[in-house]
Amino acid sequence: MSDRPVRTRIAPSPTGMMHIGTARVALFNWLYARHTGGQFLLRIEDTDRERSTDEAVKVIFDGLAWLNLQPDEPPVFQFARAERHRAVAEELLARGGAYRDYMTPEELEAEREVARAEGRVVRSPWRDASPNDAPARPFVVRLKAPQEGETVILDAVKGEVRFQNKQLDDLILLRTDGTPTYNLAVVVDDHDMGITHVIRGDDHLNNAARQTLIYQGLGWETPVWAHLPMINGPDGKKLSKRHGSQAVSEFDDMGYLPETMRNYLAKLGWGHGDDEIFSDEQAIAWFDIKDVVSAPARLDWDKLNHLNNHYIRQAEPARLAGLVKKILASRDVALTAGDMAIVERTIPFVRDGAKTTLELADNVIFALKRRPLELPEKAKAQMTEEMTDRLSRLRQALEAVEFWDVPSLEGALRAFAEAEGVGLGKFGPQLRAVLSGGAPAPDLAGAMVALGRDESLGRLDDALSRAA
Ligand code: GLU
Repeated sequence: MSDRPVRTRIAPSPTGMMHIGTARVALFNWLYARHTGGQFLLRIEDTDRERSTDEAVKVIFDGLAWLNLQPDEPPVFQFARAERHRAVAEELLARGGAYRDYMTPEELEAEREVARAEGRVVRSPWRDASPNDAPARPFVVRLKAPQEGETVILDAVKGEVRFQNKQLDDLILLRTDGTPTYNLAVVVDDHDMGITHVIRGDDHLNNAARQTLIYQGLGWETPVWAHLPMINGPDGKKLSKRHGSQAVSEFDDMGYLPETMRNYLAKLGWGHGDDEIFSDEQAIAWFDIKDVVSAPARLDWDKLNHLNNHYIRQAEPARLAGLVKKILASRDVALTAGDMAIVERTIPFVRDGAKTTLELADNVIFALKRRPLELPEKAKAQMTEEMTDRLSRLRQALEAVEFWDVPSLEGALRAFAEAEGVGLGKFGPQLRAVLSGGAPAPDLAGAMVALGRDESLGRLDDALSRAA
């Protein structure tokens, strides 16, 4: 391997959603580039014109932006480079590393059958024919690959993987219509982009052998290969629709934070001892391809939720408030600037139990309710005269609290219970219902701080005046 500066890339095909596996491949490429002070690039493999869409390109850009895995250079679009791919095939023809294969579809079919019967790969009679014999009919351009010996892939994850050359056919580089094939395009693009490390899913391991032959034919230096194991579902089977979510955007929609996903995906197939939670800086410092394990990784929702809760507890309340705003907007609840201040103030009191930002959004609803709140039926029934009197006295006690903070309010509630000669259970649940209207709410003191003095006392007043 040469000591060229490291350049990695992801090369997704824009044909639909951005799969969580692609996100992990992006992350590993990004981590390795950052770890080595190299660069991380993006190539959009849009040569399948029927299935590639602009919308899917945008999904990839958005997914990478959301994950904060931004490429260091503008993206390369593969289809736009078809001329260059063709030119390289021509160059290879000129050097004798490729040949024109004039087999008709019928001849190819017949050869296929014979090859199958003989247990060998397809061979074209045109491989060794003289160009002077060329008929005037369509042809494909095939690589003149070695038919003996082996092609050895020194894979940084899988180790040494050997392919018998006699089992590899002369792969097509240009189709009869002159369009380049996938493997040619990948090799030319990776070469031209200066890619030193190809880190991708192990479903491409066989392509690595074919691509190596193209590199050799061209006399180009092969990149370092690193084929990552797949991500399986919690049951150990290949991740599929059956397991629920697969798209990056779905994890966003389900309320997972991008830093959670980065930390979580890094742990899928790679790790640093027993460390479960680590920052980007730590991951960058620690990451190395040689530590990627070759066994498939399993998606584990409990771990993902645990991590997300950790990052929700770490995040700036203002940022979380922005996310909550988006979530509530999707439920047709529009938040005013005043509401946003309430949400931001409430978040520190309700986030500890939140596994997702959707739960966080549920947990702030109580604070956003407009007075007068509707009491749940059970609380209405409990608004007896005795309760009303007690809550009036509680209102006075609360009004006298000098600092409207958690310790003062907790102290006031305890002192009030003592003065009344009852346990907190005698009025706490009712106070909670009055403050929250039955929506999930944090501890009483926290709920009151989140609401503020005026709103808390106002909600109490509403309940008392209704009961009167
Ligand atoms: N376009 C290929 C894919 O989406 C990636 C090929 C590669 O990384 O070399 O699976």
